[in-house]
Amino acid sequence: MSFFSTYNFSAKKALIRVDFNVPLNENFEITDDTRMTATMPTIKKILADGGSVILMSHLGRPKDGPTDKYSLKHLVIHLKTLLGDVKVDFANDCIGQEAIDKSAALQSGEVLLLENLRFYKEEEKGDNTFAEKLSKLGNVYVNDAFGTAHRAHASTAVIADYFPADKKMFGLLMEAEVISAEKVLHSAEKPFTAIIGGAKVSDKILIIENLLNRATDIIIGGGMAYTFWKAQGKNIGNSLCEDDRMPLALEILAKAKSLGVNIHLPMDSTIADKFAADAQTTNCESYGIPSGWMGLDIGQKAVDDFKEVILNSKTILWNGPMGVFEMEKFQNGTKSIALAVAEATSKGAFSLVGGGDSVAAVNMFHLADKVSYVSTGGGAMLEYFEGKELPGIAAVKKV
Ligand code: AMP
Repeated sequence: MSFFSTYNFSAKKALIRVDFNVPLNENFEITDDTRMTATMPTIKKILADGGSVILMSHLGRPKDGPTDKYSLKHLVIHLKTLLGDVKVDFANDCIGQEAIDKSAALQSGEVLLLENLRFYKEEEKGDNTFAEKLSKLGNVYVNDAFGTAHRAHASTAVIADYFPADKKMFGLLMEAEVISAEKVLHSAEKPFTAIIGGAKVSDKILIIENLLNRATDIIIGGGMAYTFWKAQGKNIGNSLCEDDRMPLALEILAKAKSLGVNIHLPMDSTIADKFAADAQTTNCESYGIPSGWMGLDIGQKAVDDFKEVILNSKTILWNGPMGVFEMEKFQNGTKSIALAVAEATSKGAFSLVGGGDSVAAVNMFHLADKVSYVSTGGGAMLEYFEGKELPGIAAVKKV
């Protein structure tokens, strides 16, 4: 049992850093409430214990202080719906007299949502005075915002210094994220396959380098695969390529070889005559793409090769799509890989899907509940897999 699960919140005011940075449409309606629902178990456990909850979050990237567009007040109605029969109040500021008064008046079983933390520049600067002011609002600090755990901001990290070790902890969401990530990085059952895709090699270099010391197999798909082919002197036509990363691609291939890690590149591709949904398409070898054509998805041979590796794995980490899955014509690779990961999971493998677009892909194909864990923290998960210590995790663990 974890610290959070065994902690009795009765009569406590829990100050929870949540990640309510949800997408809103032009009518300020929430278009995807995953981040809110993900933290409900944490809030509900505290309320069930007889504690009260003060929620703090950021929303968007406000530049010049309070802006209606980025106000967390737009979330109150939905928060009430999610919590059911619970009194939910809103403070028009996250520090200041209103926040102090409303937190002080909060009764057991009630919730207070504070206004956007990023209306103060001090939040992102990790300002000590601002963090201390926030800390005064509650008597227990709970960090449940894995999505911002890679930021050393006032509410995500600095604030933890104002609570003793027995009054700061991870919430259930954060705990689940950390446990799954640690399982994959530090105690992966072998064979361990990492599937890395997406647009650019440059975004994924650090992850690949870190995984070279851990994975048995690394599958490289998506736009980044073509840099690896061109680096080996192959024709990739007009496919995406980062020429300046070619030496690095060769280094990765050499290092993998010396470490005995199998790197799998897509042997064939679905190619298109333009980057568009109505492009003409055909299939060809990824290492011989004619000029004027570009690889926008992995082909069937690649799907079959990758599937074999995936189905033979005991641990799977997936970050990044295999192709331009936003367009139907280039969806097959990503969908097939998602299905293969789901199948491997049903046969006992542990699978973690992390990082924005692969998460969007498993959701799009309705496979989120067929993999072991879908991370809510895009950037944070990426940095974790790059081998970095996340400030939000370190701050809570610090005694
Ligand atoms: P990332 O954010 O780096 O994971 O990249 C995700 C993006 O990569 C998605 O928007 C995909 O459409 C894009 N992508 C995947 N494969 C390709 C490709 N072969 N060519 C161009 N873009 C791609």
